[in-house]
Amino acid sequence: MIEIVSASRCVTCDVCIAVCPTNVFELGPGGIPVIARQGDCQTCFMCEAHCPADALFVAPFTHPAPADSPLRDEAHLAASGLLGSYRREIGWGRGRKPGARLAVGPELGRARITSAALP
Ligand code: SF4
Ligand code: SF4
Repeated sequence: MIEIVSASRCVTCDVCIAVCPTNVFELGPGGIPVIARQGDCQTCFMCEAHCPADALFVAPFTHPAPADSPLRDEAHLAASGLLGSYRREIGWGRGRKPGARLAVGPELGRARITSAALP
């Protein structure tokens, strides 16, 4: 579930509000989104993936993290590199390598295609 909107990182682009399929966010003071309906979060990670400022953190749980969880501690998430890490891992953002380039899968190179086409 969405746990953190970092006010210090947010650039008020409103992209997270636009991409959230369940309307979790509301526009807050200064244009910074607030988590208004956390219970509606589907843990789809789309907001974190789209945030250009790595200002969001979605915990990989279907329920809110406990109140004392470090996953609700922005300073901890920033220091540990977890804030915005989903976007980084999939390679979205300037200068990052697209995650699809790193995916493990069957060889799809020219040699394989050529050999499969031979009688
Ligand atoms: S994880 Fe998905 S459902 Fe949850 S706030 Fe982000 S975009 Fe909305
Ligand atoms: S997508 Fe990121 S930078 Fe844009 S409004 Fe949401 S939290 Fe702020």
